[in-house]
Amino acid sequence: MSIRKQAISNVAGRPAPPKGPGRDKLISEIYGEDVFNIKTMKDYLPKPVYKKLLDTIRKGAVIDDSIADDVANAMKRWAVSKGASHYTHWFQPLTGSTAEKHDSFIEPDSEGGVMMNFSGKNLIQGEPDASSFPSGGIRATFEARGYTAWDPTSPAFIKRDDRGATLCIPTAFCSYTGEALDKKTPLLRSIQAVSEQAKRVLKCFGEKIDGTVVATLGPEQEYFLVDKELFMARPDLVQTGRTLFGNVPPKHQQLDDHYFGAIKTRVLNFMSDVDQELWRLGIPAKTRHNEVSPAQFEIAPVFEDLNLAVDHNMLVMETLRKVADRHGLACLLHEKPFAGVNGSGKHNNWSLGSPSGNLLDPGKNPHENAKFLTFLCAVIKAVDTHADLLRAAVSGAGNDHRLGANEAPPAIISIFLGEQLTDVIEQLEKGPAKSAKSGGVMRIGVDTLPDLPRDATDRNRTSPFAFTGNKFEFRAVGSTQSCASPNIVLNTIVAEALDEIATALEKVKKADFNSALQKILQGIVKKHKRVIFNGDNYTDAWKKEAAKRGLPNLINTLEAIEALKTTKAKKLFEKYGVLNARELESRYEVFSENYSTTIMIEGNLALEMAMTMMLPAAINQQSAIAANIKALEDIGVKVGIKEQKIVLEKIGKLVGNLCAASDKLEKALAKEDSVKTIAAMNNLREAGDGLEKLVDDERWPLPKYGELLFVY
Ligand code: ADP
Ligand code: MG
Repeated sequence: MSIRKQAISNVAGRPAPPKGPGRDKLISEIYGEDVFNIKTMKDYLPKPVYKKLLDTIRKGAVIDDSIADDVANAMKRWAVSKGASHYTHWFQPLTGSTAEKHDSFIEPDSEGGVMMNFSGKNLIQGEPDASSFPSGGIRATFEARGYTAWDPTSPAFIKRDDRGATLCIPTAFCSYTGEALDKKTPLLRSIQAVSEQAKRVLKCFGEKIDGTVVATLGPEQEYFLVDKELFMARPDLVQTGRTLFGNVPPKHQQLDDHYFGAIKTRVLNFMSDVDQELWRLGIPAKTRHNEVSPAQFEIAPVFEDLNLAVDHNMLVMETLRKVADRHGLACLLHEKPFAGVNGSGKHNNWSLGSPSGNLLDPGKNPHENAKFLTFLCAVIKAVDTHADLLRAAVSGAGNDHRLGANEAPPAIISIFLGEQLTDVIEQLEKGPAKSAKSGGVMRIGVDTLPDLPRDATDRNRTSPFAFTGNKFEFRAVGSTQSCASPNIVLNTIVAEALDEIATALEKVKKADFNSALQKILQGIVKKHKRVIFNGDNYTDAWKKEAAKRGLPNLINTLEAIEALKTTKAKKLFEKYGVLNARELESRYEVFSENYSTTIMIEGNLALEMAMTMMLPAAINQQSAIAANIKALEDIGVKVGIKEQKIVLEKIGKLVGNLCAASDKLEKALAKEDSVKTIAAMNNLREAGDGLEKLVDDERWPLPKYGELLFVY
């Protein structure tokens, strides 16, 4: 039996893995068990130390060096009590994944024994060196070392394995000169920038802010599951995370029978273990369901402070992969594992929260509604002004397959507001509201501003950037991407818009506040309403309309990342202290390098698979048919010979195409030309997929889509 057939037959009898420890406990008992959270800190730290640390976490106060030793000691005692032998500074380099280098707590005691040691210095700073991570040139010219710095706003946690545990300390990763080598550093800076500007605007509304304004994030994560044995038989899935060849089976997602369907036992067992692991890590996993494509699923958490939510999403992705493996499954986080069925995204639900509540919530009284409209207009202004940067932030070889294809948000960034809210915005542009609306309408107080309908949002699944009641949902983020980049951009561009609004409002006398606000918002709507679009984003008509409106349509990564090189971008990131020119430039370097490397890997693998797996199968098929024809002719059979020769010719033509495309691909790869590589890969795939339909199923070496998507 072929490896493929054997894998298929093994699926049916695969038992569920044994239940992990702690499954007999209540969720409330295990929740946050592996996190050095506020509750644990209170138990383990002397009161004054606990208070100082809490100030840093809750109010963004600078970390007090004098408490570091106490905190480190408490963390160590806690971690060791959980079975931890090692600690690591956990960071997020520009590769887009997470990184860790473990050190044990042990320190020889000079009597032949050992002590468990972890100092304040160990906690606050690490020197992982880590010189092989991409830095986009930053480290070549300066000190080669990279330093990690403790981020006290994201709590330390324990990562367990089958044999022990490791204390993980979330950290930022910087060069000797303090330049950001990671995704967390600029994220923290951008969170601070948007918070400061939001506070200025709130002050204009007469609000006193005790504490901080926080950006919030709830990322919905889509993924695929395939049986691990079938996965292993697909070198493309193993090496690139997506299938480079394969036809959609006759039945796939046409009947919409998978979406929100009853969850298979094997998958539910997996999801249940994922939830348990996440809850132990204090990650508020909330929703789980089947998605549109067969074998596609989603997990969504309750939203949290942005920095924490980004860390948590990284852990969610890691946990999905790890638990899948234990269940004999492989979790695919790639944006487009399978051609012809839906790809996976990450819906980035973003808002701003102040101590008095969500700033994008229409609110319950006139004062709050005026505030709401101000923040809403700030986002509209920001997104229109910097649509190119938002697009750049979600670019990547994987997401290129999704954006612009007619099942995912297009590469054109527009905002969906819903009809009623758009109506409000249009009234705002025209001037004072003329007619008072009835039923469910709230007065918004600032006399000249229009009335605001309650809960006015409907749903439009085709929009890349949709207002969904009390938050914006950026849907163009790729399933495998870190949420850091899109939120760095979102925070910074909204900070700029709020800054401009605050600067204008600060000059206004109290008595003129309402009319001044009216005028400012009116100006924003006039200038930026072109970015609002409530229709179907998948149509060609929208592409034309968007072009007329002057909205950018950056169709692939190479086009999109050029946005990082503009003077506009440099000024923006520099002004708000998020990325200096060199840091921004380095991101461009890393993204473009990552893009072309990914394409080269895919191209080389496609070539190898075509030549060593598909061509031999096709040639064997040709030989078999040719031998059959010859044998039939030898005994004088005349019927059906002509038709078999036609089949043989079809195969022959595809074999020819496969070889020709391979040749082209080889040349494109030699030149490291990613555009030509993609074109040749597409030709190669066409020939390969044609052969899959003509070659004896027993002979075909690769598990087919019908098996990957349905046999699990
Ligand atoms: P759906 O978009 O599937 O209808 P919901 O609108 O209920 O689902 O929420 C989707 C995600 O948005 C969840 O992760 C939720 O926690 C998050 N979310 C809700 N409110 C906020 C907020 N104020 N800030 C950020 N994310 C939020
Ligand atoms: Mg959603």
